[in-house]
Amino acid sequence: MQKILWILVTLSMTFVIADDFKPWSSKINTLTTFEKHVLIDKGTERAFSGKHVNTKEDGTYICKVCDTPLYTSGDKFDSHCGWPSFDDAIPGAIKEVPDADGRRTEIVCANCGAHMGHVFRGEGLTSKNVRHCVNSVSLNFQKKKAQTSTLKKAYFAGGCFWGVEYYFEKIDGVKEVISGFMGGHLKNPGYYDVIRKDTGHVETVEVLYDPSKVSYETLAKTFFEIHDPTQVDGQGPDIGSQYLSAIFVNNTQERKTIEGLIKVLEDKGFKIATKTRNKSPFYSAEAYHQDYYERKGSKPYCHRKVKRF
Ligand SMILES: [Zn+2]
Repeated sequence: MQKILWILVTLSMTFVIADDFKPWSSKINTLTTFEKHVLIDKGTERAFSGKHVNTKEDGTYICKVCDTPLYTSGDKFDSHCGWPSFDDAIPGAIKEVPDADGRRTEIVCANCGAHMGHVFRGEGLTSKNVRHCVNSVSLNFQKKKAQTSTLKKAYFAGGCFWGVEYYFEKIDGVKEVISGFMGGHLKNPGYYDVIRKDTGHVETVEVLYDPSKVSYETLAKTFFEIHDPTQVDGQGPDIGSQYLSAIFVNNTQERKTIEGLIKVLEDKGFKIATKTRNKSPFYSAEAYHQDYYERKGSKPYCHRKVKRF
């Protein structure tokens, strides 16, 4: 008898420990009553009441309980049924089980078993002919993060590149700024080539930015406010062709943005000297020109922020 009792105690302890080891077991205690009603007790939220019914953003829908990615936005479609609908799941993420009602097929998270909803076939709504009808409350949404490949480059010349780089690096969404040269005919120029003023290059910064965080227009507006775009012979005390104000555009869309901003400034009475030019090869300047003020711990001598828009 004692032995049987001991086995029972050991067995029950094993279950408690195993339960504790499930990484999501503590998460269950944090669910709201309604979330538990759907995810654990297999309830259904009211049609059109969930927060993911009409969402179209790029991203991944993950299990509310165990955070496993279950569906991607690419498989989401408008079914007009009132619940988020997907015509496919991430491979292996969803398990189909016969519903207790004996008619429908229930879908659960393959990892933790949380109730998602039901799957229907043969409705002809999409080419895959499948509809995963999922409760919004069973899912969390993770927005797709910008990939390095989606970063864009913009080019601005506004006098000594040290100061232009200094201000662009302070903008949210700007990943990197490189001081260099653009617009001339000499290949791979160095600082002492450009300073002769016969290479055609202007000191230019290459701005690597995340367009989902900061727009090209914001960058361009900043550019017009951190240097004097009305100075025709250089910038501040730096006089010469390599210090002229210019924006090198990648395409007609950028050109239109710049022309629009110049028009706004001209309407305000500024006589803009900035030239809008097509992008040409960009050459990085020597390492000692990069992050100049940050390394020196000093402030630009000929650039400052002035509100113009
Ligand atoms: Zn799960």
